[in-house]
Amino acid sequence: MELYSTNNPNTRVSFKEAVFNSMPQDKGLYMPVEIPRLDDKFIMHLDQYSLPEIAFHVANHLLGDSIPADDLKAIIYDAINFYAPIVKLEDKVYVLELFHGPSLAFKDFGARFMSRVMSYFLEEGEKQLDVLVATSGDTGGAVALGFLGVPNTRVTILYPKGKVSDIQELQLTTNGQNIRALEIDGTFDDCQALVKQAFTDKELNEKFRLTSANSINIARLIPQTFYYFNAYAQLLREGNDKAVFAVPSGNFGNIGAGLLAWKMGLPVEQFIAATNVNDTVPEYLKSGIYEPKPSVATLSNAMDVGNPSNWVRIADMFKGDIDQLKTLITGYSFDDEATLAAIKEVDAEDNYVVCPHTAIAWQALKDWQQQHPDSEATGIFLSTAHPCKFPDVFPDNIAEKIVVPEQVKDLEEKTKHSVILGKEFGEFKDYLLKHN
Ligand SMILES: *Cc1c(COP(=O)(O)O)cnc(C)c1O
Repeated sequence: MELYSTNNPNTRVSFKEAVFNSMPQDKGLYMPVEIPRLDDKFIMHLDQYSLPEIAFHVANHLLGDSIPADDLKAIIYDAINFYAPIVKLEDKVYVLELFHGPSLAFKDFGARFMSRVMSYFLEEGEKQLDVLVATSGDTGGAVALGFLGVPNTRVTILYPKGKVSDIQELQLTTNGQNIRALEIDGTFDDCQALVKQAFTDKELNEKFRLTSANSINIARLIPQTFYYFNAYAQLLREGNDKAVFAVPSGNFGNIGAGLLAWKMGLPVEQFIAATNVNDTVPEYLKSGIYEPKPSVATLSNAMDVGNPSNWVRIADMFKGDIDQLKTLITGYSFDDEATLAAIKEVDAEDNYVVCPHTAIAWQALKDWQQQHPDSEATGIFLSTAHPCKFPDVFPDNIAEKIVVPEQVKDLEEKTKHSVILGKEFGEFKDYLLKHN
């Protein structure tokens, strides 16, 4: 696989380069030069394959000879070792549960695959890879657990003190081994600023091989296509072949991967981009004007993004055919009040508890279906996180229905290890230099 930059279609880099650089110098994003179409026979018989089998087939076609097939297979079978079931809630309404991985969120797909690919590409005798990651909650957990124990890598997580949920904090701070957590006395934006500055600091870059693990890395996007194919495989087993996907969206990596799957031949009738009040994309789909805004804090905080970084990838996939993009994607946005109402309604109607991000996708799907009563497609809304990660959101009668997974009970036995730092860059840099 070769990749180009969305800012300069003539650039060419290898997959390995794209994975380690994360972002091209010109500040565009990497996109594959060729997006292969999978053959119809494979797509029509998806129901015969398991998730890792599908993942291997898709990745192998996309990556070509970037990773030899046997090595790729080993990476995939190690990374994608949990389920992503669709669960029927109502006629034509299914939830795709993406929270069965170690951090209980869909980001496990991206983080586990990327960590193993990075480790694979590190050659013998090469300097340890130092991953710096700023998190508002979910990304840090997925990255920490994704890299945990992966040879020749070390992860430093920066999270805002007092601003992540208890379970998220345990996921960040109880790992030990090659993972360390820094509790920054500031906001998520402060954490992000520290990481950004580290990447431009000469001394740090001489001393360490720094890399970021953020959602724009192409190695995080690719594995997210797997579960769209796998959801469709499950739908085929139920006797259906028409799908609509509703995706709770923030940085638009998740839905971007869905569109990549569609480009590879997955038959999808419609994508629904569901956001909270950070509605830059739904507004664009309505007005044709793309106007990034500062982000607003909401209950679905992993989606509080006013300028979604992956949008340029989506725009790039449809360049020259904005009408096709608008036909394929419908946008909806909901405020916190509507989010809470949706949580209560799913509980009342389906006896199912959704996290606040997932609730927004459910509501968007419901609205779309109401506006398209003649559609034969089955709606699948993506559940991006387990509700137990956001305990403060739920009224008591719903909170008590949440079944806490075993992984979390184990976490509660462990001891938190973190280092508290201020938000000054000097302090952070000093820490990195002294704790090598
Ligand atoms: C990251 C995240 C999202 C947003 O996904 P994007 O790929 O950034 O659009 C939605 N829900 C949860 C729970 C998340 O952690």
